[in-house]
Amino acid sequence: MLFHLSQIHKTDDTICALATPIGVSALGIVRLSGSKALAIVENLTKLSQPLKSHEIIKTTIKNPKTKERVDEVCLSYFKNPKSYTGEDMIEIYAHGNPHILNDILHLCVQNGGRLAKPGEFSSRAFLNGKMDLTQAEAVSGLIHSKSSLTRKLAHKQLKGEFFGILKELKEALVQTLSHIEAHLDFETEGDVKEFSQDGFLLNKTENLQKKVEGLTTSYKQNQKLMQGLKVVFVGKPNVGKSSLFNAFLNEERAIVTEVPGTTRDVLYETVFFDQSEIEILDTAGVHKTEDVVEKQGIERTKKAINSADIIFVVVHAHEDFQKEDHEILTWLHDKKEHCVLLLNKADLGKRNTPQIFFQNSFYVSAKSGEGIDELKRFLKENYLEKEINDAEFIVTHQRHYEILEKTNEKIQSLKEGIQNKISLEYLACDVSEALHLLGEITGETTSEEVIQKIFSEFCIGK
Ligand code: GDP
Repeated sequence: MLFHLSQIHKTDDTICALATPIGVSALGIVRLSGSKALAIVENLTKLSQPLKSHEIIKTTIKNPKTKERVDEVCLSYFKNPKSYTGEDMIEIYAHGNPHILNDILHLCVQNGGRLAKPGEFSSRAFLNGKMDLTQAEAVSGLIHSKSSLTRKLAHKQLKGEFFGILKELKEALVQTLSHIEAHLDFETEGDVKEFSQDGFLLNKTENLQKKVEGLTTSYKQNQKLMQGLKVVFVGKPNVGKSSLFNAFLNEERAIVTEVPGTTRDVLYETVFFDQSEIEILDTAGVHKTEDVVEKQGIERTKKAINSADIIFVVVHAHEDFQKEDHEILTWLHDKKEHCVLLLNKADLGKRNTPQIFFQNSFYVSAKSGEGIDELKRFLKENYLEKEINDAEFIVTHQRHYEILEKTNEKIQSLKEGIQNKISLEYLACDVSEALHLLGEITGETTSEEVIQKIFSEFCIGK
């Protein structure tokens, strides 16, 4: 089912929600949006003067029935349409006590409000034309961004950069469509031939394709940076994987003992390193065993290795390779380019010099901390640093990427159609479909189901 903005069912309910996480904190924010927001809050505060838009005032929230004082708060009023949702909005800044915040929410509901669904504030902003769908998605992206890069990209999208790029693409498609339609009425064989040789149209189509491909490539090339790196530690039992893992995390997460085979399962840990999210998996040793639990652990290790971006292969620095080390190295041969060799326990000596196996290797010591900073720097310089200039735009959402891929197929079909001199009607069809697809990204032609799904993934109160 497709709709246009004007056809979407808008409710007149006034919604309210907690906009900050539940828990004890300095402040907690309750927000309201809708035509009754002002009346509800006035009923709870009994202000002597009417609230002025875009001003913050200090007041007391009381239960209007019992006159019981609930909290001393600050509140701000945003008169429509100059608000996030485009409706009348009020934000109440209360003390961050869950009971207080709960009471305020209850009072809002008792006095005519309704609890908001996830993303309902943002969906109202979208429905009221305050932002297009890419900007609404950027709001969510900003809240969930995992690194300085993804945050920067979300800001660019929120500012409307992606919308602007898509607008240009749509304008170029509309021009193409007008060009084709202008010739459509006079379509005779001769005209078609003449038209098909029209370099203008082919040029325009090729330019469009370049731009769309530029966007899809930006998504593919930067996937790893968007999702965070997956790093795994692998090595025979007792080489110090768990200790290195802890040294990397600066905390005691994995259990470290002197009995081989302690790490029976894969431990997942997400760390923020240099503003990027890295997933570290401490895995079971890869050695032959009859122990059922350990066998399962080894199976999981193999799975973890297959999905890892970087494999830290841990060996002893102070002793020669053992049979088990060779087994692991042989086993990892076809993953060589993802492997980094860590010669651990360097504090006990540096006997092993196996640079021959992998391009990158480090002497480290989980005990003394030797080499750990160097290792972090290596990660940063080789995998995490990515600067984008202001003119560059990277597609960050899979939904956008998939639609752009489909758009590209339509443009490719258009290009081939022009080259093969097919009927103008078919060419017009491809252009219209490409236009429709781009509208799905910005929200003009998106199905209601998709829109609901997008907003349902937002936080409550956003
Ligand atoms: P894993 O089985 O590979 O996870 O190894 P662990 O991290 O459990 O470590 C096994 C043993 O080696 C423990 O007694 C650690 O204290 C010790 N160990 C780990 N790293 C070092 C290190 O860098 N130097 C020294 N001297 N001992 C270490």
